[in-house]
Amino acid sequence: MTNHYDVLGVSRGATGEEIKKAYRKLARKFHPDVNGGDDAQEKFKAVTHAYEVLSDPQKRRVYDTTGNENGSDNGAGGFAGQGFAFQDIFETFFGGGGGQGPEPRMRRGQDALINVRIDLKEAVFGVNKKIEVETAVVCPTCEGSCCRPGTHPTTCDVCGGRGQVQRPMRSILGQVMTMATCGSCQGFGTMIIDPCNECSGEGRIRSRRSLTIKVPAGVGTGTRIQLAGQGEAGPAGGPAGDLYVEMKVNNDPAFMREGDDLHATLSVSMTAAALGTGLNLATFDGEQEISIKPGTQAGEVITLRGLGVTHLRGYGRGDLRVHVHVETPTKLDAAQEELLKQLANLRGEEFTEGKLVTSGGMFARLRDKLGNL
Ligand SMILES: [Zn+2]
Ligand SMILES: [Zn+2]
Repeated sequence: MTNHYDVLGVSRGATGEEIKKAYRKLARKFHPDVNGGDDAQEKFKAVTHAYEVLSDPQKRRVYDTTGNENGSDNGAGGFAGQGFAFQDIFETFFGGGGGQGPEPRMRRGQDALINVRIDLKEAVFGVNKKIEVETAVVCPTCEGSCCRPGTHPTTCDVCGGRGQVQRPMRSILGQVMTMATCGSCQGFGTMIIDPCNECSGEGRIRSRRSLTIKVPAGVGTGTRIQLAGQGEAGPAGGPAGDLYVEMKVNNDPAFMREGDDLHATLSVSMTAAALGTGLNLATFDGEQEISIKPGTQAGEVITLRGLGVTHLRGYGRGDLRVHVHVETPTKLDAAQEELLKQLANLRGEEFTEGKLVTSGGMFARLRDKLGNL
């Protein structure tokens, strides 16, 4: 299944606005009413579905985290009953809100995305992380009014504050009057004669600040945390968009994560594997006693229940799976070599015949693994 970002041709960090723009462009191209191509309808459904997921912050977060849509996708992919999209399609074809007065200068700001690196142990237990963010904030000098303090916007005298002007246009019906954005005030209906110095009349400035975010236990690389209203402040004092913090989990030298399980490899001597022993293993939860049973084979897995990664959703934790690696002794001195030969003799072990293992061995494990894919 192709991913929704590719379907819309946007990056994973795309803002809501970019996604909407991409969707509108594609919807216009593939709408069955304008495109008679064989696969136009399928493509139209695909982009509509992708947009449905990515335009909804909640659904997008689930999709980003899990790669699917939480069971809502049964392959139907139709858009019956998805009224939200029709509003957008309508606007795409017939223009949205044309001809009703000036545009507000104040608009909502864009969402922002930053990456934060954490260690595997921090992902297991969660962590409060201090991060530095640079975004637009409301200009402290003009407080978003865009005007030098003590001054105010003045009504545009070209359009009289309507933001639009009538313009004659030739058409097959003869000359008609159409409404066009006022070039003098850019459609705002007002002019800022004396802009604020600090923000150059934007009403916002860029600023660095530090934030402490609560990273929940169980996050993984790619998990996004949404902080409402911590994104870019909008123009002219508009409300800020959201800040998305995307996690990157550093590799750990000892533990490897697979889902919510952790894997580690424990090296034990040949004699310890044969005779059995008890030992301490340093885990994220501190030292754990492990017992190596007599006759432990290379590749055996000792499972420490509940010492894996905390489940991000729901309760409990995965397991820590310790893979036993048996060290075959090398660089034997004469005495050791003699002892091993005696042992082999006592056990009647011959070196001349290869013994094939038909089940339970490496191939069976490999087969199980492939079968599970
Ligand atoms: Zn300002
Ligand atoms: Zn104007």
